[in-house]
Parts: sequence; C-alpha cells; structure tokens
Amino acid sequence: MGFMDRDRESVKARDGERLSDTPVSARVFRDGFARFARTVLDHIYPPACMSCDIVVGVADSLCPECWSRLRPITSPMCPVLGLPFEVSIGPDALSAEAIANPPPFSRARSAVLHNEIASSLVSRLKFGDRPELAKFCARLMLGAGAELLEREEDEQAPVLVPVPLHRSRQWRRRYNQANELARLLGSLGGMEVLPLLVRRRRATRAQIGLSASQRARNVAGAFEAAPDALAAVAGRRIIIVDDVITTGSTVSALSKVLLGQGVAKIDVLSFSRVVIGDAGVL
Ligand SMILES: [Zn+2]
Repeated sequence: MGFMDRDRESVKARDGERLSDTPVSARVFRDGFARFARTVLDHIYPPACMSCDIVVGVADSLCPECWSRLRPITSPMCPVLGLPFEVSIGPDALSAEAIANPPPFSRARSAVLHNEIASSLVSRLKFGDRPELAKFCARLMLGAGAELLEREEDEQAPVLVPVPLHRSRQWRRRYNQANELARLLGSLGGMEVLPLLVRRRRATRAQIGLSASQRARNVAGAFEAAPDALAAVAGRRIIIVDDVITTGSTVSALSKVLLGQGVAKIDVLSFSRVVIGDAGVL
C-alpha cells in the first residue's frame, strides 16, 4: 500500500465518505483548514470552564477548581433512593428515608450531590446557554446509572422518559433540560427516548421554598400519560430522567401516574441530588 493509499484509507475511516467524492488533496486541505480555523477560534474565544467561565486548556470541561468541588455520589448508598451513606451498613440496608416513605419508583440514582457547583451547572443547563454542558452531565449520569441500564436476561431495553415542562414554560424557555439530557443519554447508551409519553396537565408553581408535603401537593395530579404512547412501553421498564432531584416529589408523582397506567417498573436517573443535612454540601 503506497502512501497515498494509506492516506485515502485514513481519510475514509475518519469521515466515512465515498472516496470518489473529493480528491484526497482537497480533503487534506479542507481538514487542515478546519484545524487551523479551530485553533484561531480557540485563540479568539479560548475554551472556558462550563461553570465559572475561566479559561481552561480543554474545551467543554471544568477548570480544576470547579472539578474538585463536584461531589460524585458513589457506594455505599441506599439501594432504593441512591442517597450516599457515610459508612457501609450492609449491601441491602435501606436509608431511614426509604423505610419511612417508600417511594413509588424502584431505584433512584444521581451523578453528583447538589452542592453550589452542581447548582450552578443545573441553572446553566436550564437555560441551554452551554449546549456542551448537557453532554458533560449526560456522560456522568451514564456512569451513575450503570446499574439501571443493566438488563435482566430476557428484559427489553428500558425506555427513557424525561420529566416534562408545562407547555407555557417550555414555550418561554424553548428548551427542556430533562429532554436534552434524556436525548443524549439515549444516544450514548443506545436507548429509546419517549418525551411525549407524559405531559404536564397544568402549570405548577416553582417548588423552591416549599416543604416536602407542600411539594407533593403542588405536583399531585400535575401529570397525565398519553394513552397511545403507552402501548409502545408495554412490558418495558421506564427510567425517568431529570436534571435535579430535590425531595423526589416530582418524580414520585410522575411514577404514580405511570404505575397507574400499568407500567411495571420505574427507575429514576438525575444529574444532581439534594442531600439534606450533609454539612458543607449545601
Ligand atoms: Zn471553573
């Protein structure tokens, strides 16, 4: 194989286009130009930390300071609620919260604790001002949700369902961060996403500042399932996707609606998770 052949092969492998479309020299020039353009752009707009905007060496990343403040949720944790334990209390031991208030869903997992840094990432995610941020969060969620993505031997692939926004809110914002996270998770993990399976029947007031019971009342009856879409999920497990879980009232209300419609098993996956009483975290 001569040099040009190898060059043709590598170009072919890289962008998968037909070799006859463009002469190799033109493609080499074009790729070189793209690299050059990127370097110039990086010089004019150097890559910035997705949280604090300081200049970083690598695009679409966090600076070392922000990265070090992100707190991944890892074992040991409550197998149901996914809340971290300080020390392991046995593989099947549940958290006090899961025993006192068993949730309607089977398992919840989140990538990071909702501390100051996670909160700043989530608010940027909400307004969609850094599209690459959603990909970053989805990658961390894929790792945190590994257990949920595993399948029983004869189980069909689970379906991802993002928590919907009410139409009026989505119209104002033009973006639903849960949809975007579910879409990226679906493409990274090869799973189907059904954003229209449930919708918000009414606009709920913002949950900020409400107690757990007020939150539960606020979202009760807020969701309804689309009967025609339910047929597509018959016999399949659903993973509800959201950006942040606070008290779990939203994902619980959504789970109840789906369980009421015959869905057999529901798991929940979020980017961040509020853990109350974790000193220095909130
Ligand atoms: Zn930073």
